[in-house]
This record gives sequence, structure tokens and C-alpha cells, in this order.
Amino acid sequence: MKVRQQGLMFIAIPLPHYCFISLFIFCMINLFRFVFLAAMIIMANGCARNPYATTNKAYKKQAKGYAKLLREYPVEDSAGLNYAPSWTGTTNFTMRRPNFVVIHHTAQNSCDQTLKTFTLTRTQVSAHYVICRDGTIHHMLNDLLRAHHAGASRWGNATDINSSSIGIEIDNNGFEPFTDAQINSLIDLLGRLKRAYNIPSTNFVGHADVAPGRKVDPSRYFPWQKLAENGYGLWYDTTGVVIPEGFNEMQALRIIGYDIKNPANAIQSFKIHFTPADSTSMINDDDKKILFDLEKKYQ
Ligand SMILES: [Zn+2]
Repeated sequence: MKVRQQGLMFIAIPLPHYCFISLFIFCMINLFRFVFLAAMIIMANGCARNPYATTNKAYKKQAKGYAKLLREYPVEDSAGLNYAPSWTGTTNFTMRRPNFVVIHHTAQNSCDQTLKTFTLTRTQVSAHYVICRDGTIHHMLNDLLRAHHAGASRWGNATDINSSSIGIEIDNNGFEPFTDAQINSLIDLLGRLKRAYNIPSTNFVGHADVAPGRKVDPSRYFPWQKLAENGYGLWYDTTGVVIPEGFNEMQALRIIGYDIKNPANAIQSFKIHFTPADSTSMINDDDKKILFDLEKKYQ
């Protein structure tokens, strides 16, 4: 009881008015200092952790713009025509999915350099994934959005490859072997993409395959045979193969998927992929056997 009485007495002691004002100002100043310091620490940490905070914000803004476009109804996409007097939306749909994977080497000297290249709007180039020398995978763009990696390209009768593919860039300058860590990460990633989007083995290709004469990546160091053994792309077996009379090698290249408008370019791309030790643009009998075997597998 004594304690309570003392407490009451303490509270009841009237303080001069200016004491409350001083206390209030003191508290506000300290609160402001605290908030300012906390903000600085958060900002400093943010900058240290992610130098791409600004471009990530730009990504989100752009993605929001596309989300808005998808929400529009009546539908006003690029076809943009209202044929019926009233709009009726179907209830049965999903997002479009990629059906090809195009593999590249960056022709740059580091992952950091490539991340920077893909976040500068003036370069206008990008990829869904970048794989660093230590096997780290950077997922830079949602698989359902269109990256700018293939450019003018063709595989079979597919021409707008950017619209239907996933682009994977591997950090490599083009004159060096790929690291084991990179290939292991790549194979793991390809497995996930193949399962997620049901991409056929024939549709895992290189940039050089879809852009003959214009691109030579991934380079002759790229282990296409190992990839094919894992189910990404196909490989040949010429054991016991006899070249039939009248075999047409250019037609075989076309059936595999190559654009044969310029035969020398198509042959060069085929050799980068399937006979990397041969830098000529001539088709010899061994090549014909390979082509005959591949033609049957790709058709
Ligand atoms: Zn490329």
C-alpha cells in the first residue's frame, strides 16, 4: 500500500509546462535521428547488396505494363478487331509456353559484364538465363516473356525464334572451354525447362544453328554430344551406315532444321555443332553418313 501511495504521489507532482515541451522536443529530435540513421543503414545495405535496384524497378514497371495489357477486355491486342457486337471471353486458356531453347556464349569476359549489358536499355539485348563460370545461374526474365537473344533466325519453319524460345547465355569469351560447373548447371536447368514446357529434344539448339552465317555461338568448345546424351538435342551414330544412292545432303540439313538459303553458311553451322574439329565448309563422305543418320532422327 505504501508503494502504491508513493507512486501516486510521484505521478501527482506537477511538472512545469516547459519541462513537457523540452521533453517532447528532445524525444522528437532523437526519433528523427533514429529514423534517419535507420534509413541510411537500409539504403547502404540495399546498395551494397544489389547494384541493380534501379533496373529491377524498371523490370517491375515494364512487367506491370504487360500485366495491364493482359487484363484488358474486350480484348485489344495487336489484332485489335471487334467482330461481334458484344464481347464474349472464353473461360478456357493458359499462358503461351516456350517450345525452343537457344544456347549462346556471351563473348564477354565476365558474368558482371553480361549482367550489365543486359540491364542497359541502349543494348536492346537480353536472355532469360545467364550461367557464370562458377555455375551460378542468373534468371533475368520470366520464361513466359520474350527476351531479345536470337535476332533474325530460323529453325525448321519457325522464324520468330525469340517469341517461342528460352535464351540461355553462358559466360564464355568464345575461345576457351566451358567449365564443368557451367555445364552441370546448364544440364540441370535444361531438365527443369524440358519438364516444365514439354520441349522436344530436337528443339534444344545453338544460336549458330538458328542464325547460320550471322552467329557462331556457342563455340566449337561446346559439348553438344554430352548434352544430347542427356536428352537435349540429338546425336549421331554412323556405325554400319551406308550412304544411299542420290543422297541429298542439303535436304538433310533442311530436315534437321537448318536454314539452307546460303548452303556454305548452313554447312558451317552444322559443323560447329556436330563436327567441331572440322573448320572447312565442305561435306565429305563422313559428314554424309552423319547427315543421313541425323536426318532420320530429326524428321
Ligand atoms: Zn548468341
